[in-house]
Amino acid sequence: MSWPSLVTPKTGDPNKRLYRFDEGDATMRDILGGKGANLAEMTRLGLPVPPGFTIATSVCQTYLELGQQLPVGLWEEILSYLAQLEQQTGRAFGDAKRPLLVSVRSGARFSMPGMMDTVLNLGLNHETVAAMAAQSGDRRFALDVFRRFIAMYGNVVMGIAAQAFETVLNQCKHERGVSFDHELGVDAFEALIPRFLAVVVRERRCGFPLDPMVQLRGAIEAVFKSWNTQRAKTYRAYHRIAEDLGTAVNIQVMVFGNMGPDSGTGVAFTRNPSTGEPGLYGEYLLNAQGEDVVAGVRTPHPICELQTAFPELFTRLNALAKTLETHYRDVQDLEFTIEQGTLYLLQTRSAKRTAQAALRIATDFVDQGLIDQKDALLRIDPQSLNQLLHRRLDPQAQPLVVARGLAASPGAATGVIVFSANEAQKRGSKGEKVILVREETCPDDIHGMIHAQGVLTSRGGMTSHAAVVARGMGIPCVAGCDALELDLMADTLRIGERVWRADDVLTLNGSTGEVIDGTVGLVDPILPPEFERLMAWADQHSRLQVRSNADTPQDAQRALELGAKGIGLCRTEHMFMSESRLGVMRELILADDQKTRDAALQRLLPMQRQDFYEIFKVMRGLPVTIRLLDPPLHEFLPSIGELHAEIGDLSASGKNPLRLASLHAALETVTRMQELNPMMGLRGCRLGLLHPEINAMQVRAIFEAACDVVRDGMAVRPEIMIPLVAHVNELIAVKRQIQAVAQAILSEAGLDIPYETGTMIEVPRAALTADAIAREAAFFSFGTNDLTQMTFGFSRDDAERHFLGCYLQNHILQDNPFEVLDQDGVGMFMRMACELGRSTRATLQLGICGEHGGEPRSIAFAHAIGLDYVSCSPYRVPIARLAAARAALGTLEEGDR
Ligand code: ADP
Ligand code: MG
Ligand code: MG
Repeated sequence: MSWPSLVTPKTGDPNKRLYRFDEGDATMRDILGGKGANLAEMTRLGLPVPPGFTIATSVCQTYLELGQQLPVGLWEEILSYLAQLEQQTGRAFGDAKRPLLVSVRSGARFSMPGMMDTVLNLGLNHETVAAMAAQSGDRRFALDVFRRFIAMYGNVVMGIAAQAFETVLNQCKHERGVSFDHELGVDAFEALIPRFLAVVVRERRCGFPLDPMVQLRGAIEAVFKSWNTQRAKTYRAYHRIAEDLGTAVNIQVMVFGNMGPDSGTGVAFTRNPSTGEPGLYGEYLLNAQGEDVVAGVRTPHPICELQTAFPELFTRLNALAKTLETHYRDVQDLEFTIEQGTLYLLQTRSAKRTAQAALRIATDFVDQGLIDQKDALLRIDPQSLNQLLHRRLDPQAQPLVVARGLAASPGAATGVIVFSANEAQKRGSKGEKVILVREETCPDDIHGMIHAQGVLTSRGGMTSHAAVVARGMGIPCVAGCDALELDLMADTLRIGERVWRADDVLTLNGSTGEVIDGTVGLVDPILPPEFERLMAWADQHSRLQVRSNADTPQDAQRALELGAKGIGLCRTEHMFMSESRLGVMRELILADDQKTRDAALQRLLPMQRQDFYEIFKVMRGLPVTIRLLDPPLHEFLPSIGELHAEIGDLSASGKNPLRLASLHAALETVTRMQELNPMMGLRGCRLGLLHPEINAMQVRAIFEAACDVVRDGMAVRPEIMIPLVAHVNELIAVKRQIQAVAQAILSEAGLDIPYETGTMIEVPRAALTADAIAREAAFFSFGTNDLTQMTFGFSRDDAERHFLGCYLQNHILQDNPFEVLDQDGVGMFMRMACELGRSTRATLQLGICGEHGGEPRSIAFAHAIGLDYVSCSPYRVPIARLAAARAALGTLEEGDR
C-alpha cells in the first residue's frame, strides 16, 4: 500500500552513501529504505531509538553490479560512522572492557517482512563476552547473547542451516531436562558455546570469525546478497515490487531484551490489523530477543498482560503508539524492546491489514479528521476488496470443530492438507485447493503460501510469519494451534486421538481460529457498513461508470447490489449451454432442412424471451447490453472423438440403428464444420450473416421481452451489440436485420421503445476503421480479450498453456496481457478507435467489457483515454468502482506499493 508522502521526497546528495539516523527522515525511503527512513523519523521526533546509521539502497545495487564487491572507499566510510557510534555510546567495537554490539539489519523501500536478512549481537568473541559478563554482572546473559550470535551469523552469513544449531540446542535442553531456552542456566550455555562453534567447523571447515571487523563486513555483504535470494524474488514478484531497488543496511546499537525478568521484547500494532478496532494490539515475551517473537520459539503473551505486569511501561508504550499513529496518520506496526525496565523502539511501519480493517481504519480516520475522503480512497488497494467478497462459512452449518488456534487472518478456506510449501505450490498452481499445514512458516515458504487457500500452523502468534504474510496476501490463517501434532516424516497431523493424512480435507475459519474437519457450506459475505460509505465516496469522485457482465438474472441482481450501473455484456450463448437447451441448439445446427431449423428456433424463442425479460426486470431501466451469438457453432456440438466413441459402442452392440444413423449424420456435419482455426473462423457477426434466422430469433426475443416489461409498467433500455465486426459493411448488414425485426415487433405492439445498436471493437481492422464504423454504431465496447489475441497474434489458451509463463519469468513481458491490459500495443488500438470514432460521432459511447474491465491498472488506462464505462464480473464491481475513483484522483496503479 502507498500514499503520498507527508512532504515531497528529498533526493539528497547523490554522492552521500551513509546517513546517521539523525540525518534522515520519513520522506527518504528511496534512499534509506522503509526501516531506515522510519528509524530516522523516530529519532528526529525524539523517540527512544538506539542510535545507528544507514547505508543507502543505491550501494546495494552497486555492490551487486560490481559482482558482489564493496564499492571503493565504502568500508572506510563505514568505519568513520562506526567511530561516531562509539563516541556516542562511550563503547568501542571489539573492546575488551566496554564492547559495543550492533545489529546489522536489512530494509528495502517496501517492507518485505522477514524476506531479507538481519544479524543481531554483532561484535562478540571470547574477550568481549567476558567484558559483557563483567559489566552486566551476569555471565549467563553474556553467553546467551553469544550463542544467539553464533547461530544467527552462522545461518545468515555462513549459510549453515538454522536446524544444525537448533538440533544441538535441543540436545542440550534434553540433557538438562528442560523444554525452553530461557530455562537453561549459565553452565548449560558455557557448554553450548564450544558445541556451536564446532557446528561451524563441521559444516564449513573453517572457524567462526572472531574478529568483529570481519563479522561486520560479512554481515553487511550478507544483507546486500539477501536481496537476490529466491524467497525475496518470489515475494517481489507476488507483490509487484521492482527488482532493481536494492536494500539499505541499518547498523544499530544493540539493546537487550534478554537481560533478566524486567527485560523483554515484542511487537505491537496501534490497532487490531484484522478488524481495525482501536486499541493497542500485539504480543511480547519476557527475557527474550526480537527474533523469538516472530519465529514462534515460545508462544508469546498478549500485550494486554503487559498492562498488569508492567503498568508504567504499558502506559508509555500506549502513548508512543498514539504519537506514531497520529504522526504518520496511519496504523503502525511497532517493534519494541525493554532493557531492564527501559523501553526502546526498534521499528515502525504502516501495518499490513486485512481489507476489513483497512475500511474501518480509513473511515475512522476520516471521522477523526486525520485524513479526508480522497486520502481514504487512495489508501485502499482495490484488489484487496476481493477478500470482503469472499464467501464465508454458513453460520447455520454445524461444523465439526476439531481444534482452535489463533484467528490470525480472517476468511474461510477449505482444501486438502499438504505439508510442504513445495507441494502447495505444485498442486495449488494447478488449481487444486490446498491447505498448507506447518509447525510454523518461514520466509522460504512464501512460494507455497501464494498457492494455498489457507495456512494452518501449530506454533507462533498473531505476529508470526504465517499470520503477517497471510494477512498481507488476504488468505485465511489459523496460527499457533497448540493441539496440533505434526509428524512430518509420516506426513500426518494428529489432534487428540484423530489422525489426518495428506489429501484429507480440512476447513479453516481464520475469523474465529476454528479448525474444522471436512468441508462446510459457504454463504455470501456480509459487507461491513464502512464498505457502503467508502463506495459512496468512490462514486462521488469517479468519472468512469461501472457496469457488469451478467448472463443470468441472478448475476444481474448481484451486480446491482454491488453497485453496477447497468449490464455492459450479456452473453447470449451461455443461455444455450444448459443441458435442456443444448439439445435444441444441436437440433438447430444439425438440421438439414429449413422446417426442422425453424421448429428448433421456435422452441428456443420463448426460452430466450424469458431470460431477457427476467434480466430487464432486475435492471429496472438501466442499460442492458446484449451481445448476439458469438462463438463458433461447433462449440455446441459433441466432439468428433465423442461421436466416434459412441458410434463404436453402438455398432458393436448392434442395437438402435436409428440412433446410429443420426450419429453418423452428426459426425458428417461436425467433420464438415471443423475449422483449422476456429477462433478466426465462422463466429461473431459472421455467423448471423450466414444464418440470419438465428439473429432474427434473438432480436425477436429481445424486443418481445422488452414489450412485456413495458406492458408490466417497468422501464427498459436494451442495447444490442454486434460481435467481431471487422468491416463496416458487416455492421450495416446485421443492423438491417435487427431493424427489420425490431420495427415489426414494436409497430405490432404499438410501443415505441428506444434502443441502441453498437459493436464490439475486438479486431485490429475495426480499430483502424473506427471512424467509418462509428457512423453506424451508437456505442463501441472493447472486447479486449480478442483484441489482445489478435494484436499479439497469441491464441490465449495456447499462449497461457505453452509460453506465457516463460515470457513472464524472463521478463519478456511484465504482465500477462490477458490479465493486465497491454497499454502500449492493444491500448494504442483503443486510443485510436476512440479518437477516430468520436471524430464521426461525437456522442459515441465507449466502454470495455473484457476481463480487463475489472483490473485496476487497466481501469486507470480506460479512464485516461476517456472511456465512459468499464464492465466486469459482478464480484469485481466494487473493485472497479474504487479503481475508477482512484483513477480520477490521479493514482497511477502501476508501481503501487
Ligand atoms: P525483520 O525485518 O526480519 O523484522 P529486523 O531488522 O527488524 O528484521 O530485526 C529482527 C528482530 O531483531 C526484530 O525483532 C528487531 O526488533 C530486533 N532488533 C533489531 N535490531 C536490534 C537492536 N539494535 N537491538 C535489539 N533488538 C534488535
Ligand atoms: Mg523488523
Ligand atoms: Mg470476443
